[in-house]
Amino acid sequence: MIIDFHAHTFPEQLARRAIARLSDSAHIKNYSDGTLDGLRRSMHAAGIGHAVLLPVVTKPSQAEDINRLAEETNRRFRDTGILSFGGIHPDNDDYKDILRGLADRGIPGVKLHPVFQKTDFDDIRYLRIVDCASENGLVVLTHAGFDISFPGADHAAVPRIRSVLRQIRPDKLVLAHMGGWGCWQDAEELLADCSVYLDTAFSLDPLRSNTGRDTAAEHTSLSRERFLRMVRSFGADRILFGTDSPWTDAKEALELVRTSGLTSAELDAVLSGNAARLLGLFSAASH
Ligand SMILES: [Zn+2]
Repeated sequence: MIIDFHAHTFPEQLARRAIARLSDSAHIKNYSDGTLDGLRRSMHAAGIGHAVLLPVVTKPSQAEDINRLAEETNRRFRDTGILSFGGIHPDNDDYKDILRGLADRGIPGVKLHPVFQKTDFDDIRYLRIVDCASENGLVVLTHAGFDISFPGADHAAVPRIRSVLRQIRPDKLVLAHMGGWGCWQDAEELLADCSVYLDTAFSLDPLRSNTGRDTAAEHTSLSRERFLRMVRSFGADRILFGTDSPWTDAKEALELVRTSGLTSAELDAVLSGNAARLLGLFSAASH
Protein backbone atom coordinates (compact mmCIF):
# COMPACT_ATOMS: atom_id res chain seq x y z
CA MET A 1 0.00 0.00 0.00
CA ILE A 2 1.65 3.22 -1.16
CA ILE A 3 1.60 6.09 1.32
CA ASP A 4 1.95 9.74 0.30
CA PHE A 5 3.45 11.50 3.32
CA HIS A 6 2.99 15.06 2.06
CA ALA A 7 -0.33 16.29 0.67
CA HIS A 8 -2.56 19.32 1.11
CA THR A 9 -6.27 20.00 0.90
CA PHE A 10 -8.34 23.02 1.82
CA PRO A 11 -11.80 23.25 3.33
CA GLU A 12 -14.38 22.87 0.53
CA GLN A 13 -15.60 26.48 0.67
CA LEU A 14 -12.04 27.93 0.60
CA ALA A 15 -10.37 25.55 -1.83
CA ARG A 16 -10.92 27.46 -5.03
CA ARG A 17 -9.68 30.77 -3.61
CA ALA A 18 -6.77 29.27 -1.69
CA ILE A 19 -5.54 27.34 -4.72
CA ALA A 20 -5.76 30.41 -6.96
CA ARG A 21 -3.86 32.57 -4.47
CA LEU A 22 -1.11 30.04 -3.79
CA SER A 23 -0.60 29.03 -7.39
CA ASP A 24 -0.42 32.70 -8.34
CA SER A 25 2.18 33.63 -5.70
CA ALA A 26 4.36 30.62 -6.43
CA HIS A 27 3.87 30.62 -10.21
CA ILE A 28 3.07 26.93 -10.14
CA LYS A 29 0.04 25.07 -11.35
CA ASN A 30 -2.28 22.83 -9.40
CA TYR A 31 -2.94 19.26 -10.52
CA SER A 32 -6.11 18.70 -8.52
CA ASP A 33 -8.72 21.10 -7.18
CA GLY A 34 -7.44 21.12 -3.60
CA THR A 35 -10.49 19.40 -2.12
CA LEU A 36 -10.54 16.08 -0.31
CA ASP A 37 -12.43 14.52 -3.23
CA GLY A 38 -9.90 15.91 -5.69
CA LEU A 39 -7.09 14.38 -3.66
CA ARG A 40 -8.88 11.03 -3.54
CA ARG A 41 -9.29 11.03 -7.31
CA SER A 42 -5.60 11.76 -7.87
CA MET A 43 -4.58 9.09 -5.34
CA HIS A 44 -6.81 6.61 -7.08
CA ALA A 45 -5.38 7.48 -10.50
CA ALA A 46 -1.83 7.03 -9.18
CA GLY A 47 -2.48 3.86 -7.16
CA ILE A 48 -1.76 5.58 -3.84
CA GLY A 49 -3.67 4.06 -0.94
CA HIS A 50 -3.00 6.52 1.86
CA ALA A 51 -2.12 10.18 2.17
CA VAL A 52 -1.02 12.39 5.04
CA LEU A 53 -2.47 15.91 5.07
CA LEU A 54 -0.27 18.72 6.29
CA PRO A 55 -2.32 21.79 7.21
CA VAL A 56 -0.43 25.04 7.81
CA VAL A 57 -1.49 27.42 10.56
CA THR A 58 -0.59 30.92 9.32
CA LYS A 59 -2.24 32.78 12.23
CA PRO A 60 -2.32 31.58 15.85
CA SER A 61 -6.12 31.91 15.90
CA GLN A 62 -6.48 29.24 13.18
CA ALA A 63 -5.00 26.39 15.20
CA GLU A 64 -8.22 25.40 16.91
CA ASP A 65 -10.34 25.12 13.75
CA ILE A 66 -7.57 23.41 11.80
CA ASN A 67 -7.06 20.83 14.52
CA ARG A 68 -10.78 20.19 14.85
CA LEU A 69 -10.95 19.57 11.10
CA ALA A 70 -7.94 17.22 11.35
CA GLU A 71 -9.78 15.21 13.97
CA GLU A 72 -12.90 15.00 11.77
CA THR A 73 -10.81 13.95 8.77
CA ASN A 74 -9.16 11.19 10.78
CA ARG A 75 -12.48 9.84 11.98
CA ARG A 76 -13.16 8.85 8.37
CA PHE A 77 -9.69 7.35 7.82
CA ARG A 78 -10.97 3.82 7.30
CA ASP A 79 -13.13 4.98 4.39
CA THR A 80 -10.85 7.59 2.86
CA GLY A 81 -7.30 6.38 3.57
CA ILE A 82 -6.51 10.00 4.45
CA LEU A 83 -4.88 10.94 7.73
CA SER A 84 -4.38 14.55 8.79
CA PHE A 85 -1.66 16.05 10.92
CA GLY A 86 -2.51 18.98 13.14
CA GLY A 87 -1.07 22.46 12.97
CA ILE A 88 0.39 24.96 15.39
CA HIS A 89 1.81 28.50 15.17
CA PRO A 90 4.96 29.61 17.03
CA ASP A 91 2.85 32.40 18.60
CA ASN A 92 0.41 29.91 20.15
CA ASP A 93 1.36 30.47 23.80
CA ASP A 94 -0.72 27.49 24.85
CA TYR A 95 1.46 25.18 22.74
CA LYS A 96 1.70 22.60 25.51
CA ASP A 97 -2.08 22.20 25.67
CA ILE A 98 -2.42 22.17 21.89
CA LEU A 99 0.21 19.45 21.44
CA ARG A 100 -1.12 17.37 24.31
CA GLY A 101 -4.60 17.76 22.77
CA LEU A 102 -3.39 16.45 19.40
CA ALA A 103 -1.80 13.42 21.02
CA ASP A 104 -4.89 12.76 23.16
CA ARG A 105 -7.10 12.81 20.06
CA GLY A 106 -4.86 10.34 18.22
CA ILE A 107 -3.61 12.86 15.66
CA PRO A 108 -0.23 11.41 14.68
CA GLY A 109 1.79 14.54 14.04
CA VAL A 110 2.05 18.27 13.61
CA LYS A 111 3.12 20.42 10.67
CA LEU A 112 5.36 23.49 10.97
CA HIS A 113 6.12 25.98 8.22
CA PRO A 114 8.80 28.51 9.28
CA VAL A 115 8.51 30.46 6.01
CA PHE A 116 4.72 30.85 6.03
CA GLN A 117 4.88 31.42 9.80
CA LYS A 118 7.66 34.03 9.35
CA THR A 119 9.74 32.64 12.21
CA ASP A 120 13.25 31.20 12.18
CA PHE A 121 13.30 27.46 12.77
CA ASP A 122 15.99 27.87 15.45
CA ASP A 123 13.81 30.36 17.36
CA ILE A 124 13.20 29.30 20.95
CA ARG A 125 9.44 29.02 20.25
CA TYR A 126 9.99 26.29 17.65
CA LEU A 127 12.55 24.57 19.86
CA ARG A 128 9.93 24.36 22.60
CA ILE A 129 7.27 23.12 20.18
CA VAL A 130 9.50 20.43 18.64
CA ASP A 131 10.64 19.30 22.07
CA CYS A 132 7.14 19.19 23.54
CA ALA A 133 5.68 17.48 20.45
CA SER A 134 8.34 14.78 20.76
CA GLU A 135 7.55 14.31 24.44
CA ASN A 136 3.95 13.69 23.39
CA GLY A 137 5.04 11.10 20.84
CA LEU A 138 4.02 13.24 17.85
CA VAL A 139 5.76 13.20 14.49
CA VAL A 140 6.92 16.74 13.62
CA LEU A 141 7.06 17.59 9.93
CA THR A 142 8.57 20.93 8.99
CA HIS A 143 8.95 22.68 5.70
CA ALA A 144 12.70 22.77 5.02
CA GLY A 145 14.79 25.03 2.82
CA PHE A 146 13.52 27.83 0.64
CA ASP A 147 9.94 28.23 -0.47
CA ILE A 148 8.96 28.83 -4.05
CA SER A 149 6.51 31.58 -2.94
CA PHE A 150 9.04 33.57 -0.87
CA PRO A 151 12.35 33.67 -2.74
CA GLY A 152 15.31 34.20 -0.42
CA ALA A 153 13.41 33.73 2.87
CA ASP A 154 15.79 31.66 4.97
CA HIS A 155 13.62 30.87 8.02
CA ALA A 156 13.94 27.14 7.35
CA ALA A 157 17.51 27.14 6.03
CA VAL A 158 19.61 24.05 6.63
CA PRO A 159 22.07 25.68 9.11
CA ARG A 160 19.07 26.62 11.30
CA ILE A 161 17.83 23.03 11.20
CA ARG A 162 21.31 21.83 12.06
CA SER A 163 21.38 24.25 15.00
CA VAL A 164 18.07 22.89 16.34
CA LEU A 165 19.36 19.34 16.07
CA ARG A 166 22.44 20.28 18.04
CA GLN A 167 20.20 21.43 20.90
CA ILE A 168 17.41 18.85 20.95
CA ARG A 169 17.02 15.35 19.61
CA PRO A 170 13.49 14.74 18.38
CA ASP A 171 13.14 11.08 17.39
CA LYS A 172 10.46 11.63 14.74
CA LEU A 173 11.39 14.81 12.88
CA VAL A 174 10.58 14.87 9.16
CA LEU A 175 12.22 17.49 6.95
CA ALA A 176 10.13 18.15 3.87
CA HIS A 177 11.51 18.45 0.35
CA MET A 178 14.57 16.22 0.95
CA GLY A 179 15.90 18.30 3.81
CA GLY A 180 16.00 21.72 2.20
CA TRP A 181 14.23 22.87 -0.92
CA GLY A 182 16.69 24.65 -3.21
CA CYS A 183 19.65 23.98 -0.90
CA TRP A 184 20.22 20.26 -1.28
CA GLN A 185 23.98 20.56 -1.17
CA ASP A 186 23.69 21.99 2.37
CA ALA A 187 21.23 19.28 3.34
CA GLU A 188 23.54 16.57 2.08
CA GLU A 189 26.59 18.04 3.77
CA LEU A 190 25.13 19.21 7.08
CA LEU A 191 22.36 16.78 7.97
CA ALA A 192 23.33 13.25 6.90
CA ASP A 193 24.67 12.43 10.36
CA CYS A 194 21.42 13.57 12.08
CA SER A 195 18.65 11.09 12.74
CA VAL A 196 15.96 12.82 10.71
CA TYR A 197 13.50 11.67 8.10
CA LEU A 198 13.25 13.37 4.69
CA ASP A 199 10.23 13.49 2.42
CA THR A 200 10.59 13.54 -1.35
CA ALA A 201 7.84 16.12 -2.02
CA PHE A 202 8.40 18.65 -4.80
CA SER A 203 12.09 17.82 -5.08
CA LEU A 204 12.62 15.64 -8.11
CA ASP A 205 11.55 17.83 -10.99
CA PRO A 206 10.26 15.91 -14.00
CA LEU A 207 11.69 18.45 -16.42
CA ARG A 208 15.10 18.48 -14.89
CA SER A 209 15.54 15.07 -13.37
CA ASN A 210 18.08 14.02 -15.94
CA THR A 211 20.19 17.13 -15.97
CA GLY A 212 22.75 15.78 -13.54
CA ARG A 213 25.08 18.49 -12.35
CA ASP A 214 23.43 21.43 -14.08
CA THR A 215 24.00 24.12 -11.47
CA ALA A 216 21.11 26.35 -12.52
CA ALA A 217 18.71 23.44 -12.15
CA GLU A 218 20.17 22.53 -8.77
CA HIS A 219 18.36 25.48 -7.19
CA THR A 220 14.92 24.32 -8.18
CA SER A 221 15.24 20.59 -8.50
CA LEU A 222 17.28 17.82 -7.03
CA SER A 223 19.40 15.86 -9.49
CA ARG A 224 18.82 12.13 -9.62
CA GLU A 225 22.47 11.59 -8.80
CA ARG A 226 22.30 13.60 -5.57
CA PHE A 227 18.92 12.06 -4.69
CA LEU A 228 20.33 8.54 -4.82
CA ARG A 229 23.41 9.57 -2.88
CA MET A 230 21.23 11.18 -0.18
CA VAL A 231 18.92 8.17 0.12
CA ARG A 232 21.97 6.04 0.78
CA SER A 233 23.79 8.40 3.12
CA PHE A 234 20.69 9.20 5.22
CA GLY A 235 19.51 5.58 4.93
CA ALA A 236 16.58 4.32 2.83
CA ASP A 237 14.73 3.71 6.11
CA ARG A 238 14.63 7.50 6.64
CA ILE A 239 13.10 8.57 3.33
CA LEU A 240 9.35 9.07 2.87
CA PHE A 241 7.58 9.39 -0.45
CA GLY A 242 5.51 12.58 -0.74
CA THR A 243 3.72 14.28 -3.62
CA ASP A 244 2.97 17.80 -2.34
CA SER A 245 -0.41 17.31 -4.01
CA PRO A 246 -2.07 19.39 -5.47
CA TRP A 247 1.20 21.02 -6.55
CA THR A 248 2.49 18.03 -8.48
CA ASP A 249 0.82 15.29 -10.46
CA ALA A 250 0.72 12.37 -8.01
CA LYS A 251 1.20 9.76 -10.70
CA GLU A 252 4.20 11.58 -12.12
CA ALA A 253 5.72 12.13 -8.65
CA LEU A 254 5.42 8.41 -7.97
CA GLU A 255 6.92 7.50 -11.33
CA LEU A 256 9.91 9.78 -10.66
CA VAL A 257 10.74 7.97 -7.44
CA ARG A 258 10.08 4.56 -8.96
CA THR A 259 12.47 5.22 -11.85
CA SER A 260 15.12 6.99 -9.79
CA GLY A 261 17.38 3.96 -9.55
CA LEU A 262 16.45 2.69 -6.07
CA THR A 263 16.44 -1.06 -5.46
CA SER A 264 13.07 -2.73 -4.91
CA ALA A 265 13.79 -3.13 -1.18
CA GLU A 266 14.61 0.58 -0.96
CA LEU A 267 11.45 1.43 -2.89
CA ASP A 268 9.30 -0.66 -0.54
CA ALA A 269 10.72 1.27 2.40
CA VAL A 270 10.38 4.70 0.79
CA LEU A 271 6.93 4.19 -0.71
CA SER A 272 5.26 2.55 2.25
CA GLY A 273 7.25 0.75 4.95
CA ASN A 274 8.82 3.79 6.60
CA ALA A 275 5.60 5.80 6.65
CA ALA A 276 3.59 2.88 8.04
CA ARG A 277 6.14 2.42 10.82
CA LEU A 278 6.25 6.13 11.66
CA LEU A 279 2.46 6.45 11.70
CA GLY A 280 1.88 3.13 13.44
CA LEU A 281 -0.36 1.97 10.58
CA PHE A 282 -1.22 -1.67 9.89
CA SER A 283 0.73 -2.88 12.91
CA ALA A 284 -1.98 -5.28 13.99
CA ALA A 285 -4.91 -4.99 11.62
CA SER A 286 -3.52 -5.44 8.14
CA HIS A 287 -2.69 -9.14 7.87
ZN1 LIG B 1 3.78 21.04 0.92
